[in-house]
Amino acid sequence: MTGLRSLILVTIDCLRADHVGFLGYARPTTPFLDSLAAESFVFSNAIAAGVPTYYSFPAIMASRFPLAFGRDVIGLAPSETSLASILRGAGYATAAFLAGNPYLSPRFGYDSGFDVFHDFLDAELAEQLAATEATALHRWNERVAATCHKIVPLGPLYDELYFRYCQKIASPAAPSLDEMRRFPSAGLIVDHASEWLSGIAGQPFFLWIHLMDPHSPYYPPRQALELMGDHGITDARARYLNSFWNRDDVGVNRLKRYREEVLRLYDAGIRWADEQMGRLVNALRRFGLWDKCVLALTADHGEEFLEHGGRYHAPKITEELIRVPLVIRVPRVTARSQAMQRHTAFSLLDLAPTLLDTIDIPSPGSFMGRSRWPFLTTRDGAAAVTECVSGCTNPFHTGDRLGPRILGIREERYKLVIDFGAGCEQLFDLEKDPGEKEPLSPDAEKAVRRRLLDQARFHLINSGRAGDSEYRLRARLRDLQFECDSL
Ligand SMILES: [Zn+2]
Repeated sequence: MTGLRSLILVTIDCLRADHVGFLGYARPTTPFLDSLAAESFVFSNAIAAGVPTYYSFPAIMASRFPLAFGRDVIGLAPSETSLASILRGAGYATAAFLAGNPYLSPRFGYDSGFDVFHDFLDAELAEQLAATEATALHRWNERVAATCHKIVPLGPLYDELYFRYCQKIASPAAPSLDEMRRFPSAGLIVDHASEWLSGIAGQPFFLWIHLMDPHSPYYPPRQALELMGDHGITDARARYLNSFWNRDDVGVNRLKRYREEVLRLYDAGIRWADEQMGRLVNALRRFGLWDKCVLALTADHGEEFLEHGGRYHAPKITEELIRVPLVIRVPRVTARSQAMQRHTAFSLLDLAPTLLDTIDIPSPGSFMGRSRWPFLTTRDGAAAVTECVSGCTNPFHTGDRLGPRILGIREERYKLVIDFGAGCEQLFDLEKDPGEKEPLSPDAEKAVRRRLLDQARFHLINSGRAGDSEYRLRARLRDLQFECDSL
């Protein structure tokens, strides 16, 4: 169709759809991406197939529902067909530069199909190990805290004093934002990607970049805060905000006082990713590659800032977590038709087949999604399925993976949420209730409810069929191998 060959996929961790300029955000988080969006297909209802990272990426990279192989399979299964393995098989040079997310690692199969795979995790792991060793004080504190919490008035008082102790006495001087950041910033990732691109020499390529700048803890580069016009947040204040925001012992009302400042840090992280995307595109232009490749930019999930009482990105499927930006730039397709926004739901399950279609490569039969490329100029009324396992916040603990499923069916206007653990089913009208605060009464919109329930049933039946696959066994063997290696 297009005669294009190469493909770039950029994923930005924790990037909410409603915090980018091209989807209506008022603060200047994405001036570069706004200009890119003006010549691209833009999807205002792109929906992650799961939350968080480990429930989202199987759909992005392998067009497969996250729980389809059974909920004990996290990530890609060994030898599972993915975007990277298909393109390498088609003779592409393939490379991934990922900013240190432990769930996007060889442990979970994401190196499969890549000639070059750099996850920047070595230094990070060493840091984590060092942190777990320096815990004598922490263990002592846990014992005292447990004792205090047995005496009701003492527990909260102890928590408050310990927090202040940590902030002011244990480490009085705040390190710089760069020292406190836990992930390589987008600048480093783009440096590595640009260097790799400089050696491509005419070969078709697939490049995957994953940026972590908006991810917590929120320590953006100082320069990003200045670009946002934010000169008032000192290094010490940023540390205080992150520490307070991370507290489990205070209620929503106290956290709310800090929400706006925390959002300013989060927004600056987005701005830095945006700046570096501009640098990446400049490098592509310099190498003469920009008009020869398709570029897609999206996020694995969003981020919560108390909208439903939570923080960060726990396994839940509320709108602030499942709705992500999606931009697809296809050169040579006229700017006028590209710049139209698509409002129908676009599941990230459909992203890989759609991208393959743009470069004239057929999708494998194992992909559960379908190409939307032929329908991008029409309204095809699709619904997106999204799902996760309640309470699974650390899939390194295999027992955490086996909780009850939360399932959502998301159309442009309506969304059905079935929480199997809580035993409840809620229907939302997102046009009247975009904040998803008031489920409709059980008697309302019966036809809609029936339609979405039918889709949920269909999805569960299909998921069950895939659950016995050989992939499941291979993934479990891989887990055992890693556990043995770490003994
Ligand atoms: Zn993530």
